[in-house]
Amino acid sequence: MSNKPFILSNKSEDKKEFEAMINKTMASFFRTIDDESAFSGINPYVLRKEINDLGFLPEKGIGFDETMKKVEEIILPNLLRTWSTSYMPHLHSPALLETIASELLIAAFNDSMDSWDQGPAATEVEEAMIHGLLNLYGYKEGADGCFTSGGSQSNISAIIAARDWYLGEKFGLDVKKRGIDGTPLTLYTSEISHFSMDKGCHILGLGYDAVRKIPVDDRCKVDINAFKAMVEGDVDNGFYPFAAVATIGTTDFGSIDDIKAMREICDKYGMHLHADAAYGSGAIMSSKYRERIGDLSLADSITIDFHKMFLLPISCSALLMKNGKKLECFELHADYLNREEDEEDGYINLVGKSMQTTRRFDALKVFMAFQTRGKDGFDEMITKVIDNADHFWSLIKDDPDFIVPVKPELSSVVFALTDGDEVNKRVRRRLLENGTVIGQTVMNGKVMLKFTLLNPNLDFSDFPALIETIKKYRDIERERA
Ligand SMILES: *Cc1c(COP(=O)(O)O)cnc(C)c1O
Repeated sequence: MSNKPFILSNKSEDKKEFEAMINKTMASFFRTIDDESAFSGINPYVLRKEINDLGFLPEKGIGFDETMKKVEEIILPNLLRTWSTSYMPHLHSPALLETIASELLIAAFNDSMDSWDQGPAATEVEEAMIHGLLNLYGYKEGADGCFTSGGSQSNISAIIAARDWYLGEKFGLDVKKRGIDGTPLTLYTSEISHFSMDKGCHILGLGYDAVRKIPVDDRCKVDINAFKAMVEGDVDNGFYPFAAVATIGTTDFGSIDDIKAMREICDKYGMHLHADAAYGSGAIMSSKYRERIGDLSLADSITIDFHKMFLLPISCSALLMKNGKKLECFELHADYLNREEDEEDGYINLVGKSMQTTRRFDALKVFMAFQTRGKDGFDEMITKVIDNADHFWSLIKDDPDFIVPVKPELSSVVFALTDGDEVNKRVRRRLLENGTVIGQTVMNGKVMLKFTLLNPNLDFSDFPALIETIKKYRDIERERA
């Protein structure tokens, strides 16, 4: 073995080598971040060629230093810098400092969450954090949860659990063993909900058509009367409504569905109500705005994303289930992994609650962030980003150059220049080429721009210059047209 040392161990030579690598990595990183822009602005064709020229698998390893040189020259400068206050297109956050440190520990130990013997403290920390989260969101005794790879997986897991439970309760069908039986199931969610519901229903063999898209009102929230009418109509036509999803913070607008009203309809028809709070879950930390997300404990399950408002590194999400037994749909015993006799002696194996087998110790990031910042730290950061959205909205709502159709409830503002689709698109592209990355979406067939504000370093004082830049680029595009 010519490249020794190669694995981190207790040997002092390995520790030294690792420390040197980390120091070199940090040095490259710090040399790279030398301005405030979010992106180098490089053309995609140029970047593609440069990346391909780096090569795939050399005959002979070039060693860490040479590798780091390539990384520093070509890759790092053209990565997206999530910490930049000029980055605001997506629900894609910068990472809190201590959670980047926790990622180092997660990778260095490389413990896994599937069985207790692969991550003893990891298993116990995850369970303790899940317990804390159940309390935080108002769930009582009997609830359970699990960390997942992201909001999509949390949502799909919730739909699986809801489907299996519904068919079991209603028809005594053991879906795990016998599969689905062709019962025409339907799921209800708003027309602007996240596409993971469609993906989920496809994966479950129900198909996109099983996802009933409820129209939204002028504040982009589920139209409750329409929801009711759709469920009634489907029941009359022989369908079986098994679940509904309330979006607690839609991906574009941050609009929040009325969970209480949706609960009433779900109760009437024996449906599982899932709260997709991938975005809005963070608002629970804001004493000023917490009320806006409603009482999430009314939902039967909740998706939380920590890699959005909570500012943790990708990926980190959790699914909470009010009736923990519904998570048993993922339980399966393997002789080599999760023996029942071990579980009786307290060696719990979290693989039984998850779609995944090998799974990262993401709960450590939540633990370290919660301990480091505390309630007050998160309150301040999350209140600030919602305040920012409110402030930006107040600056442009009466400006004749802009339209802003929906008053923000979370940290996103969807707006447009009054000049039409082409100018809006070109202004966004021009901003990108100059290192400011903003969002673009469509509302009622019109191109809209979007600020998704997750970075608490952005201040009220930053907005006037941003608005000026947008108008300046608009003027250039007007002249070109
Ligand atoms: C981001 C988002 C998701 C998907 O979460 P991932 O972590 O990206 O998989 C689901 N629902 C909503 C409302 C979201 O904003």
